[in-house]
Amino acid sequence: MANKRVERLRERLHDLGLSAMLVASPINRRYLTGFTGSAGYVLITSEQSFLLTDFRYMTQAPEQATGFQVVEHGANVMDTVKELLANEGIASLGFEQEHVTYAAFSTYTKKLEPVHLVPVSGLVEQLRIIKDDEEIKVMQRAADLADATFSHILSIVETGKTEREIDLQMEMFMRSHGATSSSFDTIVASGPRSALPHGVASDRVIEGNEFITFDFGALLDGYCSDLTRTIALGSPDPKLKEIYNIVLEAQLHTLDHIKPGMTGREADALARDVITKYGYGEYFGHSTGHGLGMEVHESPRLSKLSDDVLEPGMVVTVEPGIYLPGLGGVRIEDDIVITETGIHILTSSSKEYTVL
Ligand code: ZN
Ligand code: ZN
Repeated sequence: MANKRVERLRERLHDLGLSAMLVASPINRRYLTGFTGSAGYVLITSEQSFLLTDFRYMTQAPEQATGFQVVEHGANVMDTVKELLANEGIASLGFEQEHVTYAAFSTYTKKLEPVHLVPVSGLVEQLRIIKDDEEIKVMQRAADLADATFSHILSIVETGKTEREIDLQMEMFMRSHGATSSSFDTIVASGPRSALPHGVASDRVIEGNEFITFDFGALLDGYCSDLTRTIALGSPDPKLKEIYNIVLEAQLHTLDHIKPGMTGREADALARDVITKYGYGEYFGHSTGHGLGMEVHESPRLSKLSDDVLEPGMVVTVEPGIYLPGLGGVRIEDDIVITETGIHILTSSSKEYTVL
């Protein structure tokens, strides 16, 4: 597994004329090596794959990072990097410019001298866009856990509880069913707060006769799910049911028509055109979806400005919404895999208008 990913990275490095790259991002490190420890660097050269970490991980790292030479580094990891580069006669080194602080860069410069440092951008992230079968299996389990959590929500939501209390119960449920954590700050947005697309759970007490939007996911074995459902309590303003049906139509229309070869812009328009047709275009202020994987927001983007082309193996969300200030809002979100012929939907919670 690790070897195939490293091979693809080597091809990219070769195209850039680079014979070595240092990976500092923890997520990219885990993606390339399978090593789940909290510290370490990956050094890929044309011939060798190194995982540099400290003494705490000298049992775990060789077990997890198959195909890598695990090297224990001393007080300053750059001394070890310099030695490894010198052994292979490497004069220039790519580094991940998005993941290296100015302070770290200064240390690289000082310690690695006279090695030439070359900033590279998003190389491992680009590999991560296309998920392999193993990754899809993990993401299916993360999606299943989000679905199970939504069923759990339906059994615990009641008037008088605060959004934060429900958030805590969701977190307990996900973690007691295998999640490392939630994959981002859980959104529980009730009543007028449901008009806030990013209404992270607050101290607001659930009153009844209102909408509640739940947007949450589980981080499971390194991968995220991301699910949104909006439900009704009691008898909310009829306007809210009207927008619920429009958002649902937009979401289902997108799922029916999204396919490989389409751009992110075209996919975004599938949902946006339905909402605009009903006159609510200006109340759908965010994009239709985003890539999902080891991070909750990855490429590709399904937005008005996105030229990303959808390809088999990409996992994206489809999440149109309408938000009416002061009244409430609706968002419905599923996670899907782009396949050769269309899509496979990972999340399966009911989207029927639900009144508690
Ligand atoms: Zn979400
Ligand atoms: Zn999302």
